Amino acid sequence: MNMYQHNSSLSTPLVPTVWEPSSAEEAVFLKRQYGADAAYIAGSTLLRTQWENGLLSMPEHMIRLDTIPGLRGITEHKQRIQIGALTSLRECGKNQLMRIHGNTCYTACCHIAAPSIRNQGTIGGNISSAVGDMIPALLVHDARLVWLDQANHLAPYEQELIDWLEQVRLGRRSPDAILLGIVLDKGEPDFVSMHHDQEESTFACNSFSESSSWREVSFYRKVGRREAFTPSLVTVAFRALMNREGTLVDVKMAAGGGAGLAMRLSRCEHLLEGQVYDPQQTATLAAQVEEEWASYSDPFASEAYRRQTAGNLLAAGLWEILYQEMERG
Ligand SMILES: Cc1cc2nc3c(=O)[nH]c(=O)nc-3n(C[C@H](O)[C@H](O)[C@H](O)COP(=O)(O)OP(=O)(O)OC[C@H]3O[C@@H](n4cnc5c(N)ncnc54)[C@H](O)[C@@H]3O)c2cc1C
Repeated sequence: MNMYQHNSSLSTPLVPTVWEPSSAEEAVFLKRQYGADAAYIAGSTLLRTQWENGLLSMPEHMIRLDTIPGLRGITEHKQRIQIGALTSLRECGKNQLMRIHGNTCYTACCHIAAPSIRNQGTIGGNISSAVGDMIPALLVHDARLVWLDQANHLAPYEQELIDWLEQVRLGRRSPDAILLGIVLDKGEPDFVSMHHDQEESTFACNSFSESSSWREVSFYRKVGRREAFTPSLVTVAFRALMNREGTLVDVKMAAGGGAGLAMRLSRCEHLLEGQVYDPQQTATLAAQVEEEWASYSDPFASEAYRRQTAGNLLAAGLWEILYQEMERG
C-alpha cells in the first residue's frame, strides 16, 4: 500500500494523508483505524463540492478506492449482471448490458451532471452518497449491493438496496463498509423490453419476441432547477410488465431527488397491480403518489411542490406509455 502527504509551502491548516490501498480489506482496515478522520474517495466529484461549499471538512486521511483492482466494469453472468462500484457513470450510460437489463439505470446515468463529471463520478459514489439520482432507478430493478466490512469479517455480502436505504434512514449504516458492486437480475428472456425516452419521445425496444405476450415497460424522469447539469429536485422511476390488453403486473415505482432519501411507492404499486390502466385514473395516481411519498422542504422547493411534481411525473409517464401503445396499435 502506498501513502503520501501533500507538501505545501503555504501554511495550510490541514495536509491530508492520501492512502492508496491495494485491496478492499486494506481500505477497511484504514477506515477502522482512523474512523471519522478518514473518508473513502472514489471519483471525488461530490466530495470536492461538499468540501468547497463547507458542507464537510476535508478529512485528515483520504483512502483512495481507485487503486483497488477489480472494482470497475460491468460483467454478465447467467442470471444477473454485476457493476463494479468504481465504474464511471459515463461507462454505465454507454453499456449495452446496462441498457438491456437495467434500462432506467442506463437512462439515469445519462441525466446525471455534465459529461465531464460523469467521466469521473462513479456509480458507487452516487449510491454511497445515499441521495444520488441513480437510486430510484436502481430501486425499480430490485438492485442488490455487494459490501465488505469488518462487522461481516471482511467477507463480501449482498444486501437489497431497499434494506440498505432503511438502515441509512435509521442512522444504522456501517461506517467502514465499502461498496464493491451492484447486482441486477436479468429479466425473463421472452419479455420484450420497452423503455420510454421522454426527450426523444420514442420507445427503445431492446429485444423482440413475437411469441411473448408480456413486455417490460419503464421510464425515468428527473426535474432539476435548471434543465441540465444540476442536481435534481425530484427523480422518479417506473417499471412493470404489460400485456397486449394493457394489464400491468410486477409494478415498481420509486421517487427520490435532492437531499431526500428515495423510496419505493408500494401503495401506488398496489393501486396499479393487475389493472388495465385507464387514463382517467391519472389524477388518482398522481394524488396517491403525493400522499405516499415522504419528501422534504428546502430553500429551493417546498415539500408540497416536490410531492406534486413526483405525482405528475409518474402519472404523465404512464399515460405516455399507454398513448404510445395505442399509436402502435
Ligand atoms: C456540477 C455537479 C453536478 C452534479 N449533478 C448530479 C446529478 O445530477 N445527480 C446526482 O445524483 N449527482 C450529481 N452530482 C454529484 C456526483 O457527481 C455524483 O453523485 C457522483 O456519482 C458521485 O460519485 P463519485 O465517485 O465522485 O463519489 P465521491 O465524491 O468520491 O464520494 C461520494 C461519497 O460516497 C463515498 N463513497 C464513494 N465510493 C464509495 C464506495 N465504493 N464505498 C463506500 N463509500 C463510497 C465517499 O466516501 C463519499 O462519502 C453532481 C456533482 C457536481 C460537481
